[in-house]
Amino acid sequence: MFALTGVASGKLYPMQRKYSSRMLILAAVAGVVAGGALPWRQLGELSLTAAAQAQPAPANDGKLRVIVFGAHPDDPEYQSAGVAMKWARAGHHVKLVAATNGDIGHWGMAGGPLAKRRHEEVLEVARRLGVTNEVLDIHDGEIMPTLENRRIFNRLIRQWNADIVITNRPNDYHPDHRYTSILVQDSAYMVGVPFFGTDTPPLKRNPVFLYAPDRFQRPNPFRPDIAVSIDDVLDPMLDALLVMESQIHEGGADGNASLYPANDPAAREKRRAQVRQQLAGRYASYAERFREALVKNYGEAQGRAVRHAQAFELCEYGRQPSYDELKKMFTF
Ligand SMILES: [Zn+2]
Repeated sequence: MFALTGVASGKLYPMQRKYSSRMLILAAVAGVVAGGALPWRQLGELSLTAAAQAQPAPANDGKLRVIVFGAHPDDPEYQSAGVAMKWARAGHHVKLVAATNGDIGHWGMAGGPLAKRRHEEVLEVARRLGVTNEVLDIHDGEIMPTLENRRIFNRLIRQWNADIVITNRPNDYHPDHRYTSILVQDSAYMVGVPFFGTDTPPLKRNPVFLYAPDRFQRPNPFRPDIAVSIDDVLDPMLDALLVMESQIHEGGADGNASLYPANDPAAREKRRAQVRQQLAGRYASYAERFREALVKNYGEAQGRAVRHAQAFELCEYGRQPSYDELKKMFTF
């Protein structure tokens, strides 16, 4: 089986990679059978599947149901962490979905061991944020906007009975990001169509679809329709995100061994401080970029005082709420 620490490195042969999905499911099943004796037993608590097995919908308790789609196990986390934590603390239901299993997202390891490691990382992030998550077992770098995947996305949104769906915009450097966004867009109408995807009841009310920010300018730059402060959750949110060492400390597919050297405690400490500052800086830059939207939301004095923020753009597909309704959705 796998090294439990998930630090196995080295490239895998194609045959090993081919079987990574099945091995992961076996690992998940083994985790359940072991009855909690293993540190990775949590794998069994969430589905890791390309078929999006039925998960119970959150309670119909008048709280919001939010689902966030990102391409890899870290994208929905970055896109939503602060607001997800605030929603969760207010009793709303949030689910983060990675559309691929992230099995090539590292410079020194790949295949099943990497997918397992990344799944464990995002499980812990979700636990700390207070949200649910799911990682689809589609290979990293290989998701396509197919009819099969449209059905999977449609089913996930319906099962969550979502009020709000969040993803990245389709203008993006990474093909997985682009196609994940397209698949969400393709669901923006179909989730209400009764005779599409008839294994799950259609939604009676179309969700609001939102995009997280990026810096791409063509064909059109990101335009914030709502911006909110995350100052009150910044530290626990960073603590949660920084669990993803494979992506943040070690640099993911663009990293190298010297970034977070295994046997150099001082260098590791320095790296930890550096990545924390960088991550905080990302959300600080949003507060500067989206200052006018913050002032619109909170008024002049409070809006100017926000130091870390998240912002979202309303997708033209899906339900079109008024500004007041949108603002209410972000009242935590
Ligand atoms: Zn990504």
